[in-house]
Amino acid sequence: MPPCMTHLQCVACNATYEAGTQNTCPICGPHEGILDVIFDTTRAAVTLSRDTLNAREQSVWRYAELLPCEAPNLPNNGLRTIGWTPIIEAPALAANLGIGRVRLKDDGRSASGSFKDRASVVGVAMAAASGATSIACASTGNAATSMAHCAAVAGIQANIFVARGAPEGKLAQMLAYGARVFEVDGTYDDAYKLSRQSCAEFGWYDRNCAVNPYLVEGKKTAGLEIAEQCADNPPDWVAVSVGDGCTIAGIAKGLRQMRECGVIDWSARVLGVQAEGVAPIMKALETNRLDIPKVGTTYADSINVPVPRNWRKAVNGVRASNGTIIAVSDDEIRNAVATTGRLAGIFAEPAAAAAVAGIAKARQDGVLDPNANVVAMITGNGLKDIRGALSAIGKPTRVKADFKHIVEIVNAD
Ligand SMILES: *Cc1c(COP(=O)(O)O)cnc(C)c1O
Ligand SMILES: [Zn+2]
Repeated sequence: MPPCMTHLQCVACNATYEAGTQNTCPICGPHEGILDVIFDTTRAAVTLSRDTLNAREQSVWRYAELLPCEAPNLPNNGLRTIGWTPIIEAPALAANLGIGRVRLKDDGRSASGSFKDRASVVGVAMAAASGATSIACASTGNAATSMAHCAAVAGIQANIFVARGAPEGKLAQMLAYGARVFEVDGTYDDAYKLSRQSCAEFGWYDRNCAVNPYLVEGKKTAGLEIAEQCADNPPDWVAVSVGDGCTIAGIAKGLRQMRECGVIDWSARVLGVQAEGVAPIMKALETNRLDIPKVGTTYADSINVPVPRNWRKAVNGVRASNGTIIAVSDDEIRNAVATTGRLAGIFAEPAAAAAVAGIAKARQDGVLDPNANVVAMITGNGLKDIRGALSAIGKPTRVKADFKHIVEIVNAD
C-alpha cells in the first residue's frame, strides 16, 4: 500500500476503515456509505514539492504520494500518458463572458477524449495490480469509453453497461477498444444496478466511481495539476460541470491537498455547474439531502444523472472551498459550445461546455465579479457527440461548383 494513504472514512457517518478492507461503509450501506480516501499530507509533503515535481513524468503518476496505487508498469505504456493536459489562455472568451481572465484546462485531448481517463487509469492500474482479468462499469458514456481504452491497454476484458441512447461516437469508441457492451433497455440507474450485480456474481473488478473509493483519487489529479500549473497565477474560481459529483469532489480535494503539502499557498473556490433539468446536487447543497427529482432531462448526456451517488462528496468539497453550484439551460449550453469553439478554439462536448455556460450565468447572477479569474475544466471532446454539437452550431453554406457564386456570397457577408 502506498505509504501516504492512511485509511478510508465514510462521508455519511465518519466511521473509519483500513484501506483495502471495504469499498463502502457497512454501517451506512452501499448507497449512502461512500468512502473517502484519507492521506497523510504532512508525510506527502516531505517528498512532494515544486522542485521534486519538476523532474517527474508528465502524467497523473507524477503525484505518487497522493495516489492510492503505484504507477503501472505494463508493456504498453499507454497508462503512463494520461494526465498533464494543457491550460489554454482564452482572452476572447473572457471578454465575451464579461470577466477578467479565463483559462481552459482541456481534457478533451486526453487519450479517450475525456476527463474520465483520470479515474479509469487508476481503476485499471488497481485492477491490473490485483490480478483481475475483467473490469466493469455503468456509464452515461465517457467513463465506459475511457475504461474500455485503459482496459485494452492493460489487456483486461472490459464489460460496459450503458443506458439506451448513449451518443454514437461514444458507443463506437467502446466497441473499437474491444469492450463487451451491454446496451440496457432502461435508465442509467438500471444500468448501474446491473453492473453492480454482475461484479458480485462474476467477480469482475468494479470501476463504478461511486462505490470504488479510489477512482475519485484519479479525478483529483485535475485539481493537483491546476494547482501546479497555476501556482504563480492562481485563479479565484475553478468551474466544472457536475453529474454524479465525483469530478468536482476530486478537483476540490486536489486543490486542498496541494495547499496542505505546501506546493501552493492559495486556495480557489469551486463553481459547480449542473443542467437546469437535472440539478439534484445544486438542491442538496441547500437542503443537505438528496431529493429524487421529478421528470427533467438535459441533452448534455454526461451530466444527465438524476440520482447522483456522490452528492455528499460533491457538497462537502464545494462547501470546504467556499464555492457554489448553479444551473444552466440546454440553450445556454448550446451557446457555450459555439462560443468555446469560436473564441477559444476548443471543441467541447455539451457537458464540458456547460462549465463555460456556468461562468456566463454566474457573472449574470453576480456570483462572479467583472475581474473574476476562472479556470474552467473542459471535461470532454466535442467529437464524442456530433449530433449534440450540430444542434448548437451553424450549418455549412451550400454553394454551386461555380466561383461566381462564392464571390457573391463573400461580398454579401
Ligand atoms: C462524467 C462527466 C462529467 C461529470 O462528472 P461527475 O463525476 O459525474 O460529476 C462532466 N463532463 C463530462 C464530459 C463527463 O464525462
Ligand atoms: Zn457510514
